[in-house]
Amino acid sequence: MRLRNVKGSRETIAVNEFVVHDEETAKGHWHEIFGNNQPIHIEIGMGKGQFIMELADQNPDINYIGIEKFSSVLVRAIEKQEIRQLPNLKFIRMDAEYIENVFQQGEVDYIYLNFSDPWPKDRHAKRRLTSHQFLNRYVNILSDKGGVTFKTDNKALFDFSLAELEVAKWQLINATHDLHHSEYNEGNIMTEYEKRFSDMGNPICRMVCKP
Ligand code: SAM
Repeated sequence: MRLRNVKGSRETIAVNEFVVHDEETAKGHWHEIFGNNQPIHIEIGMGKGQFIMELADQNPDINYIGIEKFSSVLVRAIEKQEIRQLPNLKFIRMDAEYIENVFQQGEVDYIYLNFSDPWPKDRHAKRRLTSHQFLNRYVNILSDKGGVTFKTDNKALFDFSLAELEVAKWQLINATHDLHHSEYNEGNIMTEYEKRFSDMGNPICRMVCKP
């Protein structure tokens, strides 16, 4: 993602009610933070939040947390949430590498990864959000029934991710190299990048998997 610095984004985030600050102190307390016992689903690398906001709107009985590394991007999601005021949606600004410091075992019921950065150089493979290193981190936060849905238009990243499932000893539930023309497309919520890439004619790959 090309990043433009958004002036004042850090300051906006620092005082925003929808952002959970000091996220490591929230570990083990997420249900208290939401004030209910609803399941918790997260999107890692949320970008500007279009997808997770739609999910939160459609599923008021699930709590959602959007995780984004960059303030300049997160601030765009905050602006939308200021208008929509979805009670079941919160945000964290963090690098997902430290996700185990923020959620305890079983606290997360589902993880969405959408159009994650491909990190094309081999030496950066462990930074990919579907690397076995990341899958091992997800095992430590997911509930027993938990799983991951991953979408991308990047076939090399998708094939790498399928191979990493085997390395991490995860199960593939289903996969398609052309989501929009597959049986799995019903109810699909498009992300910002998904719309952009499918408008360019790129097929969208999607996998559903679990530990
Ligand atoms: N998911 C959105 C979509 O599909 O429209 C945005 C996709 S964008 C290509 C990837 C996003 O993931 C960027 O906003 C980037 O800052 C964020 N990101 C990448 N690595 C991350 C990490 N380790 N932790 C948190 N966010 C990350």
